[in-house]
Amino acid sequence: MERLQKYLANAGVASRRKAEEIIAEGRVKVNGAVVTEQGTKVDPETDVVLLDGKPVGARQGQRYLLLYKPPGCVTTMSDPQGRPTAASYLTGVKERVFPVGRLDYDAEGAVLFTTDGELANRLAHPRYGHRRVYLVKVKGDASAGAAPGSAAALAPRLEDSLARLREGVRLEDGPAKALSCEIHEKAEKNVWLRIEVGEGRYHLVKRLCEAVGLTVLRLFRPEFGGVSVQGLRSGHFRDLAPEELRAMR
Ligand code: URA
Repeated sequence: MERLQKYLANAGVASRRKAEEIIAEGRVKVNGAVVTEQGTKVDPETDVVLLDGKPVGARQGQRYLLLYKPPGCVTTMSDPQGRPTAASYLTGVKERVFPVGRLDYDAEGAVLFTTDGELANRLAHPRYGHRRVYLVKVKGDASAGAAPGSAAALAPRLEDSLARLREGVRLEDGPAKALSCEIHEKAEKNVWLRIEVGEGRYHLVKRLCEAVGLTVLRLFRPEFGGVSVQGLRSGHFRDLAPEELRAMR
């Protein structure tokens, strides 16, 4: 058993002093009842602690990892076809973690791995939204007249494709669209697009791009659930910080 303010502080909610204030403000519920009394004891294994209606921190004994998945591996921990898997990058992880969602074999970027089935279900459930941002490198297509590969040459057709992505297109399994899309960065012959989608349909981003005549060269997911791969090297992973986990919940 642990004192509530200590439990909140350990979960990364706030300092012990600040946690006391939060308790006094009536923002914390233990097993469904508001607790304002300092020093109330909680059992981290069994008690459900909510702050402002959201579960607090890591569940005891659970592991939460962010992998910067490199291209050329499957997101799963094993592969019947013998392809390289994410497991080979999660070295030293003893817990039986599994990926939340997936990224294509050739895609790269943020993938969350956890032992926490409850969090995985919540994040995967359409009710909690599937808003995901992708940076997509597409082949530039120079139109006649402008210098090949120049920004001017890329502009007209690309803007057309982006407008169609925003309006929506018909895919073989139904209509789909980008919630937003814009040019992120222009290179000499290629363009990085920033595309946001609101569902997790199979190969959605690639199929959307294909439907409007864009050839995808690279697909990168910079973050998952608000947790970024910035600072990580491709093929490396880290544990989530308590604040990151709380924000995700
Ligand atoms: N869309 C895709 O096409 N591939 C992914 O891996 C994720 C989204």
